[in-house]
Amino acid sequence: MPQHATLAAEWEDLLTRRPAFQDSLHLFGVVLDAWGRWAPPGIPVLGLDQDECRRRWHAGVAVIVSSPPAFDRDSLEPLLAPVLQELAALGEEEAQAVSRFAEAWDEGRLAPESLLPGLSGEGRRREGEALGISADLLSFITYVGLRPPLEAYFGRVQPLFSPDLWDVGACPFCSAPPAFADLADDGKRWLSCALCGGRWSIGRLRCPFCDNRDARTLTRLAAEEQEEGYLIEACDVCRGYIKGVDRRVRWNAASALIEDWGTPHLDVIARGKGYWRATPSLIQLAPPGSTPG
Ligand SMILES: [Zn+2]
Ligand SMILES: [Zn+2]
Repeated sequence: MPQHATLAAEWEDLLTRRPAFQDSLHLFGVVLDAWGRWAPPGIPVLGLDQDECRRRWHAGVAVIVSSPPAFDRDSLEPLLAPVLQELAALGEEEAQAVSRFAEAWDEGRLAPESLLPGLSGEGRRREGEALGISADLLSFITYVGLRPPLEAYFGRVQPLFSPDLWDVGACPFCSAPPAFADLADDGKRWLSCALCGGRWSIGRLRCPFCDNRDARTLTRLAAEEQEEGYLIEACDVCRGYIKGVDRRVRWNAASALIEDWGTPHLDVIARGKGYWRATPSLIQLAPPGSTPG
């Protein structure tokens, strides 16, 4: 897929800009390699028409809710296998959790759909607990393992979207929480979904996780003291945070996914102040100092 070639080039460029992260973020290179090679025949593609999509978005319901994908388990293996191998190398505990995941997957006890936050809700966490896999690890595997098939699945409905149709904090396609915020040239705040690649817009002063709109409890953490144009937006009601880039200042920043992967130091700042993020990050699995290499 051509967009994966772009991501790979952006990632290489980011590691040149931030060479200190080359070792600790090595895993994402493996992820991008797997994405770039993945091209199974017969990937399901959702074929909803524009009226139906608009009806759902106006009702505030993400497309996936009434149209769940049915991915073929075997077709996902080339995406999962290399990543599981890397995750298992993080430590003994991770290796055991990964082997429990692989066993459940191979035996058909774990369906791809049951991993999707928009479909499973709390069920996913319970499933992880039953398998002895932390919610963070299960979420990380889901995000890196299912993005290419989800991009393909929503490939026809994504062009039907326009931001005036949707006024919700979660992704209009897969219902996952946003992973990154971009302030665009027009001053609009765009949110990105790291699970399916969806993009939508909500107001500047609004928490996408709990819908808090009170400026007194919406905080900007001091990312800009370190790097101009990089942001951490946090909410003092639900304590969630999201990183972002002000593209009016950082006009040459990479895509949201690459900037999110490439700024773990900003997650360290936010976590240090007691905030949580809604989407998985490598730093939740391998805090600085515990990463091999
Ligand atoms: Zn999404
Ligand atoms: Zn909040």
